[in-house]
Amino acid sequence: MSNDQYTFANPAEQYQMRQPEEQYQEGPGLDQKLSPKADHGEQSYRGTGRLSGRKALITGADSGIGRAVAIAYAREGADVVLSYLPDEQPDADEVAELVRAAGRKAVLAPGDIADEKYARALVHTAAKELGGLDLVVNVAGRQQTAERLEDITSESFDQTMRTNIHAMFWVIQEALPHLPAGSSIINTSSVQAYSPSPTLVDYATTKAAINTFSKALAQQLAPRGIRVNVVAPGPIWTPLQAAGGQPPEALPEFGQQTPLGRPGQPAELAPP
Ligand code: NAD
Ligand code: MG
Repeated sequence: MSNDQYTFANPAEQYQMRQPEEQYQEGPGLDQKLSPKADHGEQSYRGTGRLSGRKALITGADSGIGRAVAIAYAREGADVVLSYLPDEQPDADEVAELVRAAGRKAVLAPGDIADEKYARALVHTAAKELGGLDLVVNVAGRQQTAERLEDITSESFDQTMRTNIHAMFWVIQEALPHLPAGSSIINTSSVQAYSPSPTLVDYATTKAAINTFSKALAQQLAPRGIRVNVVAPGPIWTPLQAAGGQPPEALPEFGQQTPLGRPGQPAELAPP
């Protein structure tokens, strides 16, 4: 492969994506409907065996950041269980195909992670299907923009908390008995934890909670040989943003205010 993630390049000049049009998708949003397309490393990610034989559970693995993680992990040699919402099956099927093309096992495990029963059962499915578990990557998240606090319904607030915070707790708690020393847990925060937008009050709050949860847990689990990390991305071009994460009219300018002058691509976050 001539161009991969190790190719020396100027990040300010990479990914000259055409300006996105205004767009809106119901529900979790599909990568298949995202325009322009995002890059998850499909053509570029080159593995070097860094996760040989590892067993990974990845939530939100059908699209965006989670898809890029699944592709990278598989090409590094890990078998993966992919969690996503049933509505996202078309995206998840594509990811499973990419994982299998890398010669690794892909287990499809659709369900609503805001449902405690599914979240806990997911871990058991993963451990059973993979013959153990040593990587837990919590990527699933919900972000719905709201101009005014009065616009956030109790149901929506609750769903955001359950998806972003409770699910992480359920998955990790259920995973711990399976995780040998040397395992890693990776949670997904956001720039919103540090610089919250006025229109993302509930979402930003969950990301600050994820940071604090992870910092405390990292200290608790270090003596057991389990590493806990958080990744806090800035604006990344994914279906989350086109499915209510931003007002549609903000999408053409999405990510332009960053120091690189462009949104990030999922592929830029995936390398393990
Ligand atoms: P995405 O829409 O591609 O991924 C989010 C995934 O969460 C969905 O694919 C879906 O499978 C999953 N999900 C949502 N609700 C769920 C539920 N109830 N049950 C099961 N799965 C559910 O978008 P993304 O941007 O790749 O988001 C991944 C993570 O990155 C999220 O935690 C998000 O908060 C975080 N993040 C994104 C950005 C960004 O700009 N895109 C920035 C910072 C952090
Ligand atoms: Mg998705």
